[in-house]
Amino acid sequence: MKDKLGREINYLRISVTKRCNLNCSYCGSKKAAREKELTVEEIKLLTEAFAEKGIKKVRLTGGEPLMREDITEIAQAIKNIHGIEALYITTNATELEKKAAQLKKSGVDGINISLDALDREMYRALTGVDRLSDALKGFYAALGTGFQRVRINSVLVRGKNDGEAEKLISLARDYKTDVRFIELMPFSSQGENRELVVKTAELLERFPFLTPVEEVEEGAAKYYTAEGFRGRVGFISPRSGKFCSECNRVRILSDGRIKPCLGNELTYDIREFIEDKKLLSAKIDEAIFNKPVSHHFEDGENFRGLNLIGG
Ligand code: SAM
Repeated sequence: MKDKLGREINYLRISVTKRCNLNCSYCGSKKAAREKELTVEEIKLLTEAFAEKGIKKVRLTGGEPLMREDITEIAQAIKNIHGIEALYITTNATELEKKAAQLKKSGVDGINISLDALDREMYRALTGVDRLSDALKGFYAALGTGFQRVRINSVLVRGKNDGEAEKLISLARDYKTDVRFIELMPFSSQGENRELVVKTAELLERFPFLTPVEEVEEGAAKYYTAEGFRGRVGFISPRSGKFCSECNRVRILSDGRIKPCLGNELTYDIREFIEDKKLLSAKIDEAIFNKPVSHHFEDGENFRGLNLIGG
């Protein structure tokens, strides 16, 4: 279905929990409790309703989606829905080693792994836990499990882990993985944080050996490669290169509200009529149609933690 600006909305991101086992300062500093999480059945009903509106691609996120004991049931229920062509999951990978094979079997097509440092101390300082080796084991397990794609997403924070960029890029040289740098957004209690953003242009200047990949792929990332690289290096630039006019996504929060735009507080509460197909359908139409035009991160807005929304 199209929104009022004519953007085709075909991508649904579902936050399955607010809970997370890491505590990344730029994400959300408060530990979230297990509250009002959608059940597998509710997630299935909601996704079916969205599939009828043309949603083809689903990503499970959170919080940390692997904190849900029933994550494989959730994946299976979604993958069996008519119209859903691709199912992905975004995880910090600390619990992925033991779950990668089950997730693949449940129909997950690809994994995005969030990893901001390859130095053990830096990882601990950023996440609050000493679990770099578990995250890496999760990454290797994912690579060995035969997913269509395994990608790394990294957020650099100036003065903290910007020195990790080169090591992170080397993962794309050594493994069949895309490493993508996402510009820091104004979530959590850091305020507008403009001075902490490491912009895409700055990284391209720092790594002149990266050359643009010719074929353009759907999605927010622009890809580069270098000689001898097995994977690509991607840049997602919500601060320096807004891509709202091409946005094709809507979100469901872990308590069942629809959130049509990451950078706007507008939500639609639909949980009470999840079982009423007609009402649900009308509310989804309303939420998609009224998707905000764009975020306004540049205006100094600051949002609650991304862990509470679903990154
Ligand atoms: N726990 C899962 C994970 O780590 O991938 C999924 C949820 S996490 C909120 C999803 C992504 O949001 C992570 O890649 C994280 O780096 C990113 N993120 C969190 N806060 C952010 C911020 N302020 N700016 C940009 N990305 C952020």
